[in-house]
Amino acid sequence: MSNHGGNVSVIGAGIVGIATALNLQRAGYEVTIIDKVPPGEGATLGNAGIIAPSAIVPVMIPGIWKKTPAMLLNPMGPLSLKWSYAMGILPWFFDYLRNSSAKKVTTIASGLSDILSGAIEDHQQLARGASAEQWIKPAPYIYVYQNEADYHQEAFSWNLRKSHGAKFTFLKNGEIQEMDPSISPDYKFALVLEGHGFIPDPLGLVRSLAKDFAGKGGTILHREVTDIEIGADGPESLITPQGSIDIETLVIAAGAWSGKLAARLGSPVPLETERGYHVVLTDPGVAPKYPIMSTKGKFVATPMTMGLRLAGLVEFAGLQAGPNYKRARTLLRHAKRLFPGVRTGEFTEWMGHRPALPDSLPVIDRSPYFSNVYFAFGHQHVGITGGPKTGRLVAEMIQGKKPNIDMKPFSIRRFKN
Ligand SMILES: Cc1cc2nc3c(=O)[nH]c(=O)nc-3n(C[C@H](O)[C@H](O)[C@H](O)COP(=O)(O)OP(=O)(O)OC[C@H]3O[C@@H](n4cnc5c(N)ncnc54)[C@H](O)[C@@H]3O)c2cc1C
Repeated sequence: MSNHGGNVSVIGAGIVGIATALNLQRAGYEVTIIDKVPPGEGATLGNAGIIAPSAIVPVMIPGIWKKTPAMLLNPMGPLSLKWSYAMGILPWFFDYLRNSSAKKVTTIASGLSDILSGAIEDHQQLARGASAEQWIKPAPYIYVYQNEADYHQEAFSWNLRKSHGAKFTFLKNGEIQEMDPSISPDYKFALVLEGHGFIPDPLGLVRSLAKDFAGKGGTILHREVTDIEIGADGPESLITPQGSIDIETLVIAAGAWSGKLAARLGSPVPLETERGYHVVLTDPGVAPKYPIMSTKGKFVATPMTMGLRLAGLVEFAGLQAGPNYKRARTLLRHAKRLFPGVRTGEFTEWMGHRPALPDSLPVIDRSPYFSNVYFAFGHQHVGITGGPKTGRLVAEMIQGKKPNIDMKPFSIRRFKN
């Protein structure tokens, strides 16, 4: 494609960076992606792969603050904190809790709904005409409960989702096991979400998109950006151990690592990482057709090309600490409860960094200080779902087009920098 739009450098080759780069390339820009690891090997690599337009309700919901201390005290529970990291994260955590009131959660859900609605179509559009199309699987998403009362306890969340267009039906008693005989009879109630989907290999998806991008003339550089050189007219070049890279327009899509780069550009943000884990059972002996969310175990089981992936958990321990795979292995126990016949002997394990802001909304914005700088990060638990639309929005902003949604919730200025 001819270069009639100018040059854009994108830091980050996760789903957000790749989607941004492809949208810009299709609009006629010459785009360079810079990443310290190969495309898709950040948080995007190991996620649960769910395309979930209904995932508009943040982790912190009304009343959760009462349960949080007990949850944090259980090192093997779904939410945990590395105690040596506790002091540093306290201010962020208080902000996170402050965002759990019904009013705040309702506002957050509206913002997320604008980013996540139409996610299947956004993915299909991004992948169109390329090998990436094979990875987009429209499918129902099943939430299983042990009983109907447990579902009613989550009425606030489900009503909110419904008010934003989520469509679901229910399965009761044996109907769940008729749908999937491998699910334990202890699960007597399920909710079936329509209009969802999954990606049976999220790394495969990003690799395919990256191949499409490179095949059409895009450049991907395997380098770490250690600093940004700022001249009289704004950012001029990226510093990497292999030399500097001149820039014209810059997009920061560096996932959980975006905080340092944003601060360098005069916009410090309270970006944390909600670390998550997966195990992939490579010989599970059970084969669910659709992704299943166990509301009891707080994990998702997704049928993937490499096996049955069990993904979930939230751990606050920062970007530096190594993984605690004992936590990942708690997923094996939960899987046995959900699928009594599952084989858990052979598995691989992984930890990844969800980029998280305390109000659970991403930053998708132009820099208040530099007109050639844009930000696209902070997609917490829903980056696979919201990545393609984010990429389109950033490309529209760079082209000077007005996005057709209210962008205020995603402003970097909301953090008063
Ligand atoms: C266990 C788990 C399950 C999940 N399940 C789902 C799900 O089912 N559905 C869903 O929608 N979302 C899910 N998510 C969330 C989703 O994975 C993330 O929101 C998404 O991957 C974030 O994408 P990203 O492109 O912003 O970041 P990343 O994929 O992390 O990409 C950022 C890239 O920037 C690069 N980078 C950073 N700093 C620099 C630098 N200085 N120089 C060069 N390169 C740099 C990194 O190397 C990285 O490759 C899950 C996450 C986890 C952890």
